[in-house]
Amino acid sequence: MSKQSKRAKAAQIRETMAAEGEAVQENTKGFNQGRYDSVADLEDYQGLKDEARQIKEAAIEQLPELIEQLTETVEENGGTVYLAEDEADANEYIQSLVESGETVVKSKSMTSEEIEVNEHLESAGAEVVETDLGEWVLQLAEEEPSHIVAPAIHKSRASIAELFRERFDPDRPLETPEDLTAFASEQLASKFDDADVGMTGANFLTADSGTMMLVTSEGNARKTVAATDTHVAVAGVEKIVPSVEDLQPFVELIGRSGTGQDITSYISLLTPPVDTATFGDETIEGAEDREFHLVLIDNGRMEMREDEQLRETLYCIRCSACANTCANFQQVGGHEFGGETYTGGIAGGWETGVHGLDSSEEFVDLCTGCSRCVEACPVGIDIPWINTVVRDRINRGADDHAYDFLVDGLTPDAESGGMSYQKRFFGNFVTVAKLGSLFAPVSNWLADFGPNRWIAEKLLGVDQRRDMPTFQRETLKEWAGDRDGPTDPDREVLMLADTYTNYMHVERGKAAVRTLEALGVSVEVADVTESGRAALSQGMVETATKHGEAVAEELLPHIEAGRDIVMVEPSDLAMLRDDYGQLLDEKTYEQLSENSYEILEYVYGLLENGASADALADGDGEEIAYHGHCQQRTLGLAAHTEAVLEELGYDLITSDVECCGMAGSFGFKQQYYDVSMAVGEDLREQFSTPEAEGRTIVASGTSCHDQLTDLMKQDVPHPIELVAPLERA
Ligand code: SF4
Repeated sequence: MSKQSKRAKAAQIRETMAAEGEAVQENTKGFNQGRYDSVADLEDYQGLKDEARQIKEAAIEQLPELIEQLTETVEENGGTVYLAEDEADANEYIQSLVESGETVVKSKSMTSEEIEVNEHLESAGAEVVETDLGEWVLQLAEEEPSHIVAPAIHKSRASIAELFRERFDPDRPLETPEDLTAFASEQLASKFDDADVGMTGANFLTADSGTMMLVTSEGNARKTVAATDTHVAVAGVEKIVPSVEDLQPFVELIGRSGTGQDITSYISLLTPPVDTATFGDETIEGAEDREFHLVLIDNGRMEMREDEQLRETLYCIRCSACANTCANFQQVGGHEFGGETYTGGIAGGWETGVHGLDSSEEFVDLCTGCSRCVEACPVGIDIPWINTVVRDRINRGADDHAYDFLVDGLTPDAESGGMSYQKRFFGNFVTVAKLGSLFAPVSNWLADFGPNRWIAEKLLGVDQRRDMPTFQRETLKEWAGDRDGPTDPDREVLMLADTYTNYMHVERGKAAVRTLEALGVSVEVADVTESGRAALSQGMVETATKHGEAVAEELLPHIEAGRDIVMVEPSDLAMLRDDYGQLLDEKTYEQLSENSYEILEYVYGLLENGASADALADGDGEEIAYHGHCQQRTLGLAAHTEAVLEELGYDLITSDVECCGMAGSFGFKQQYYDVSMAVGEDLREQFSTPEAEGRTIVASGTSCHDQLTDLMKQDVPHPIELVAPLERA
């Protein structure tokens, strides 16, 4: 973090959370729950998502032809199309359509925010009036949007009422949402009457008919168009799809994904210019004067299309599901988790593409890569990967090379100088773990020694309030090397013990080995421990790739010999199942992905295939509260853990919070400690209810373990520790 110290960033985030966090939390969580409820009613949600994805992929592939086709269609319809290269070009054209002193009424459009059209028109003497309630509120308050669908999501009802009182001195109390909406409508009515130009965005544009689909919750877009003779629509080129039929899956998905509405209040399909209206044979006077201008914005999009890593961003339909489901966004909102225009997880891609890396650098580390957004995204964009790439580019472009000589050739990673020491420390944690284990218990004493914690915070930004995990002198690999497995095993497993399981949380690795052996499986522990997850989370893509190659080199011969790969840590499994698709060649990725299993997924499979649960610990009705890991849930694997625990007789309740807030190194970072704890608070509350109180808390992820241990002040075992037989079978 070159531009702002970690301490200053932490203070800024705290301030934003205090001012806006409550309203953002309430609204985003409401939208997110609405999405879950609404998509549950769909017969084939995944089918719709796949269809939507295919349409967007094909549209971006043929974008130059679609732009040409749309231009011809709109011009045949009597409108004008202007393809603007960038912000300045777009504004110059729009300005040419609006006379000084004229009034422009606008419906909500993020693309118009991107080009800052209001400021340009106002500086040329026009009056610009936002007619979306949220946008109007922000215009009055002189604030920036904090959410791509609900721009004033950070404002409470009380603060809006106060704003109206200050600005208009209303003659009646404005208390309810209805009072506020009615008052706003009254104020805006005269603006519509006086308006000369109506400006809208467009959610979709169809090349075959020139139809634009506008999705709003207030109907103001229709009024904007109907009340004026000149309609200017501003839309990014990526909004074009081939035909009107292609709109169908998006009609089903956009409202559900964003606000949890089965269908958005207003979906307008406009094919301007509107034919001259008639009453019978009589033409309405003046109706023939209507003008329509479609301003298609490039502003970096065609370059994004050529950029293999950023291209997927263009599939985005701006529904906001990724922001609503994001645990960090729910706490800090878009004024922190957003750039010059765009907010939430996908903003990393948008801001990099349209404004550049400097804008993304301000917020992209708030994406922890938990992957909950991927499942929520109606077009399945791999948002964490885009943000990883953005981080990697920021790392590589870092301009502080003053101390390069300290790291060149000395660090165990493949990155160039200039990158922050904090990222290097966490990205190379396997080296720290090896040394910590080698010198334990001295290393543990040193890590815990007050002055050293202070130094670690100053130098590396490791928050003093976090305890480093305890290094174990005997690693899992060493312990397992001394064991005799089952004499006549049914299956053979190579366990890829992640860095934490091998050097720190060795007890969970031992439990995994004992469980597998009890079920007739022989286990060998791999030499390699680091999947590359730690490096990838810091945007160190080249280093992560090298780790991935080392994993492949060791694991592939075992896979070819018929052994299964089993892992304890879900985030490392997600590397093999998912991220390696970006890092390794396709064949290697497929072999690793298809032959690797999470430990309880594997145990579930063994039990389903005839292994006896009698060999495992008996739950005997013990009450437990379980928190699944975010990536484990995205991979659809938490259900296996729940099923095994229930089969063994545990009385189970599960949390439904999206993320524990720790997210690997995120919660250890000084600048993000407060966000991490605020996110964890949801989990703490859920496990403090009368139903949960007194239960043994179990968690599948190392991060979840660390966070819950801090929050609940109790030990938090991995579920495999409850499943494992006490003695070897
Ligand atoms: S990335 Fe996906 S979830 Fe996020 S706004 Fe775009 S379409 Fe919606």
